[in-house]
Formats: sequence, structure tokens, C-alpha cells
Amino acid sequence: MNQDFLIQVGAILDSKYVLTEDADKAPYLTDWRNRFTGRALAVLLPSTSAEVAAIVKLCANTKTAIVPQGGNTGLCGGATPDQSGKQVILSLKRMKQIREIDVANQTISLEAGCILQTIQEKAAEKGFLFPLSLGAEGSCMIGGNLATNAGGTNVLRYGSTRDLCLGLEVVTANGEIWNGMKGLRKDNTGYDLRDLYVGSEGTLGIITAAVMKLYPLPISQWTTLVATQDISSTIALLNLFQQRATSLLTGFEMMTKESLTLIDKHFPQMANPLKGSPPFTILIELSDHESEDHVKQLLEAILEEALESELITDAVIASNLSQANSFWHMREHITLAQAQEGANLKHDITIPLSALDRFISETDALIKAKYPGIRIINFGHLGDGNLHYNVAPPEGVDFKAFNAANEKPVHELIYSQVELCNGSISAEHGVGQLKIDELRAHKGEVAHELMKSIKKALDPQNILNPRKVLSI
Ligand SMILES: Cc1cc2nc3c(=O)[nH]c(=O)nc-3n(C[C@H](O)[C@H](O)[C@H](O)COP(=O)(O)OP(=O)(O)OC[C@H]3O[C@@H](n4cnc5c(N)ncnc54)[C@H](O)[C@@H]3O)c2cc1C
Repeated sequence: MNQDFLIQVGAILDSKYVLTEDADKAPYLTDWRNRFTGRALAVLLPSTSAEVAAIVKLCANTKTAIVPQGGNTGLCGGATPDQSGKQVILSLKRMKQIREIDVANQTISLEAGCILQTIQEKAAEKGFLFPLSLGAEGSCMIGGNLATNAGGTNVLRYGSTRDLCLGLEVVTANGEIWNGMKGLRKDNTGYDLRDLYVGSEGTLGIITAAVMKLYPLPISQWTTLVATQDISSTIALLNLFQQRATSLLTGFEMMTKESLTLIDKHFPQMANPLKGSPPFTILIELSDHESEDHVKQLLEAILEEALESELITDAVIASNLSQANSFWHMREHITLAQAQEGANLKHDITIPLSALDRFISETDALIKAKYPGIRIINFGHLGDGNLHYNVAPPEGVDFKAFNAANEKPVHELIYSQVELCNGSISAEHGVGQLKIDELRAHKGEVAHELMKSIKKALDPQNILNPRKVLSI
């Protein structure tokens, strides 16, 4: 059977694009956090939508499960196969054509394997901003971004990947190509198929291409780091910026003292320019399409108001682009610093801003009481109410042993608090194989059953990324 499959796939792809040797498959079998490792019959590397469609047809005929993979930077194990050795990994990395930049329509049509950073650069060459931006942008791919509905640092102003997507091309579970490559900002023709596939993590179809929105490149950007003493003044500061700067506010990121301690330890060259390790360091960015002076004066005026009303205790405005980039690098390197410190317990959650103060104070108190000495590494896209509320064992305690003994109860404590505050247990990283049980426990029975019905309707043989998102 396995041999049969490989012979038939040889009629679709050149043998150099069918990886079956262990050493060739190895880089595709483990997730970015080294948390999940699987086995695969083969790694398939198609270069066209027609090849993807032919592969999916073959998989449908032979009931072979497919695990789609982009840059393999997902943080929930969604792109990692199971242990059976019977699944195939379908890597989209050879599909990297930019099909068109439509200047009048302000859109870019491109294939799923385009790397996010390359898209930003190609858009900039034509005078456009492609606003999706995240720490993994040098390796993640637009197909993976769409499949996970990635967020990142610009959601506050431009929305998540879903909001940036106007059209999709998808290979369905029976190997048909759905051409939804329309760059329309209005299209009320019944059910929104595009929105079904965005965020479906490879469980409903293979995204092969997309039409994404572009925006004019801002001519002026000002970035500042400010110190706050507590969460309530941080939220008041966000509200002040939202009122005064409105749509010019493009970034509002929070870093706690504990998260910057890890930066000091693992990336000492990225020191926080704010003096005295404040409890909260907030990175704020304003962008403007008009004059350079306008946005700078506005930023200074808001900071002055914030200082006078004691919302902030200190501020540093980046004097040039390279200093602004260094502020962003510090924020983006927290995930890497954490990975170097050890495999902490991660919680990528959203809380309504009005409940954030309560969530943090109550959850911190509960968790510290139950696990004395525990380290809470809390940072995130605060402007979106998105916290990366991560937990590491007390100093000197082995990460593996601590996680093995406490992972489930720690997750449950935090996710119960999330539910009490009407938040979400997955803000931007998705569900993958990591949060299947939690999704079931916290999504609500009706929603969970509806999701299962959609999966059964679109993938009746369950060949697309089985046991990801849902337990089926
Ligand atoms: C350092 C670092 C920082 C990060 N920061 C952020 C952040 O700020 N915000 C954020 O949202 N995420 C962040 N991530 C997570 C990750 O980068 C995103 O989830 C990203 O969108 C994944 O893209 P990828 O191409 O690597 O997808 P992969 O990891 O390859 O796949 C992710 C999921 O999508 C499916 N998939 C991939 N391609 C396709 C396709 N073409 N069709 C159908 N299904 C597909 C896979 O099966 C899997 O379920 C970060 C990751 C790292 C390592």
C-alpha cells in the first residue's frame, strides 16, 4: 500500500520532490518548539496548485492523511504528523510566486509558500505596506499565516490575517480547486467560504494562493518605550493614545519586568533603555502618511499628558530608525529568550481590556499561592487584549520535571480564569494538537458540535490534518 502510494505520487512529482529518506524528512517532523515529533510516509513538495490537487485526489483515493506545512513556525504542533508513519507532509514551500500586485486595487495575489518578510519587501518596492508582522516573519509563509489566522504586532491598526485577506484559492478534500481569488472588499453571496478556511489550520482544505490587502506606506513612524507601574494605568494609557492618536496608533506592546529579565540574560546586547527595570515597559508606535513633524509633535504631547497625569513614569523616544528597530527587536526576542531559558508553559490568551486588570491580579495571586516561587513571564500585544501569559518553574527547578507534574493543572487554572473573564484560550497561535482538549472544554458544546459538522461536511473521509483542532 505504502509502496503503491509512492509509485502513484511519482507520476505527479519528480522523485526529487518526494522525500522518503529519514535524513531528508527529519527537518519537517518536529515543531518549532521541539515539543512534538512525528513520523511520515513521505514529504511531498509540489510547485503548482494542479500538483497539489492531484496529490489530494490520490490521498482521497488511498485514504492517506495529509499534514499541510508552511514555514513550520507554528507554536501548537499543527504542522507535525502523528506517530503512525502513514501520513504525508505536504510542504507548500516551492509555491512562492507573487502572481500580481494590483496597484489600483491595492492588493497582492500570491502563492501559499511566499515567506512573510519577502511579501513585505515586494510590497514596499511598489510603495505599499503589507502590515502583517510577527517574530517568525523570516520563515513563516502566507499559507501558514492564513491557516492559523496569525496576529502579530499590527493587529491594533490593520487587523489579523483574516482581516487582510480578500480572496483564496483552496484545494478541497476531494482534490478540486476552488478559485476564490477575488480582490473584492464587498461580496455578500451567501456563506463566506474564505472565512471558513482562514484559521482552519489545514483541517478543511489546502490553501494554495490568496489575494491580500495592501496599504500606502507610512512616511513617518515614531516609536517610544514608556514605563508604567501597573496594569490599570497601562490600560488608561492605551485609551489615551486611542483617543488622541486614533488610527495613527499602530503598535501597543507590553513587556513585564520578568520578561525583560530574560532578555537581559539571553540577549544582553538588547538592554532596555528605560532606567531601573520598571514593572511594565510599553512599546508604542505611531505611523503617519502626512508630515514627519505632525506625528512627532502628537507623540510628545500625548506623552507629556501621560506624565502629568502620572500614567507613566519615564519615556524614551527612538531618535532614529535603528533605535526604533532595536526597541522592536527587544520585544520580538522575548519568545526566543524564553525558548533558551527552557520549555515554559505557554498561554496565548485574549481578555477583554475591561477585565484585564482583574484577570492578571487574580490569576497571579492564585498561581503564586499554589506554586510558590513560580515565575510568570507575561507580555503581549496589549492593544488587542492579547497576553502571552507564560509560566516557568521556580529558579533552579528542572523545567521538564515541573512541566510533567504540573502542566494540566496550571493550564486548567489559567483557562478557567480566562473563561471567567469571557476571554479566549487561543488568541493568535491556534489550536493544533496542543489545545484540543482545552478547545473542547472551553469553546462550548454547541460551538464544538457545529465545528465537527463543518469538518465532516468538508472532509468526510477525514484525510486533512486529522486530530488537529478537533479530536476527530
Ligand atoms: C519567534 C516566533 C514568534 C511568533 N510570533 C507570532 C505572533 O506574534 N503572532 C502569531 O499569530 N503567531 C506567531 N508565531 C507563530 C507562527 O509564526 C504563526 O502561527 C504562523 O502563522 C505560522 O506560519 P507557518 O508558515 O510557519 O505555518 P506552519 O507552522 O507550517 O503551519 C501552521 C498550521 O497551518 C497549517 N498550514 C500551513 N500551511 C497551510 C496551507 N497552505 N494550507 C492549509 N493549511 C496550512 C498547518 O497544517 C498547521 O496546522 C510566532 C512563532 C515564532 C517561532
